Amino acid sequence: MLNQTNVRLGKVRSSIRELFEYGKKRRAEIGAENVFDFSIGNPSVPAPDDVKKTLIGLIENTDPAELHGYTSAQGDYAVRKSVADNLNARFSTGLDADCIYMTCGASASLTITLNALLNGGDEVIAFVPFFPEYKVFCGHAGGTLVPVACDGEFQPDLDDFAAKLSKKTKAVIINSPNNPSGVVYGEDTIKKIVALVEKCAQPVYIISDEPYRELTFSDAAVPFIMNYYKRSIVCYSYSKSLSLPGERIGYIAVNNEAEDFGEIYAGVLGAGRALGFVCAPSLFQRLIARCAGQTSDLSAYKANRDRLISKLTEYGFTFAKPDGAFYLFIKSPDGDAVSFAERAKKYELLLVAGDDFGCGGFVRLSYCVSPDMIERALPAFEGLAKSYNLI
Ligand code: PLP
Repeated sequence: MLNQTNVRLGKVRSSIRELFEYGKKRRAEIGAENVFDFSIGNPSVPAPDDVKKTLIGLIENTDPAELHGYTSAQGDYAVRKSVADNLNARFSTGLDADCIYMTCGASASLTITLNALLNGGDEVIAFVPFFPEYKVFCGHAGGTLVPVACDGEFQPDLDDFAAKLSKKTKAVIINSPNNPSGVVYGEDTIKKIVALVEKCAQPVYIISDEPYRELTFSDAAVPFIMNYYKRSIVCYSYSKSLSLPGERIGYIAVNNEAEDFGEIYAGVLGAGRALGFVCAPSLFQRLIARCAGQTSDLSAYKANRDRLISKLTEYGFTFAKPDGAFYLFIKSPDGDAVSFAERAKKYELLLVAGDDFGCGGFVRLSYCVSPDMIERALPAFEGLAKSYNLI
């Protein structure tokens, strides 16, 4: 018999992917201009011009054997050094190249990290609402995901967190700016999370999953976990900040101030090896060495957010105001997310039911789309609101 866990995972797509595939089908049936696809976090803003120029320069001027060849398993040394230098310059850390492991995006960063840390039966805490794949990644690494509740503003419920920390807790995942709520955890929240983790008798690792770090709309800084807690690991991706989701490039940064840094980094190397996640795409590694620290023009997302907040509020929908990422997490008018998302489909609005994010009663709207699509979608939102007698 095959591994039934994997067979089941292969047969049932995530709700995000399911809707994304539905959107493709629907576009073929009724025309792309008639489908308002807010399902997936695929950036609409192009990568910076410098990315294109750098790629062309790399292709034209690098020895092909080097350009397309294997790098070290953990990534090219110069690339890792540039990532570490960039983090040090921004966050006053003392990282070096050997704290960095280049990966195929945040998904690979997370699954490698969890496989490095977990033994069978370990628990990993995640704050609701959370990226649904956390459950899959934890399960595959032999652990169990333990959800912690949030308050009405989607900030962590720290009493629930204190209650859920146990002898079995091995790691805590923080995702801020958050997918799907868009909220950012402030310094005070991070300090409180750290204080509670420090009370645990056993070592507990904090994993910061932060593909949206640069996507913030207020002046409030997104705290960098290594400045607050030593046993910390950052899982990063250039998918969103440089609009390169299909190129699969990101990194793991292990805090070299952790007492067991050498063990953690060795675990990351070992898990990367065991999972076959060695030598992230080499062309894009070299691009990152030259473009680390740049971002796409992210201002379009703020404009999208403001336009949607204004119109959806006018139509009677409610949601927490997001300070980052590019998602709105909208409350279902009748409390049922699945029926809300199904009804939205009748208006060709593709919204993801939030149940998989550990938070029933909400749908996720991904607004990294063209402003034009938002304008065209507004009458559909209005119709949807009317169908619930919100206006
Ligand atoms: N973590 C979060 C919170 C995400 O939203 C995503 C993607 O949307 C990922 C991880 C995976 O990112 P990547 O595309 O870099 O694998």
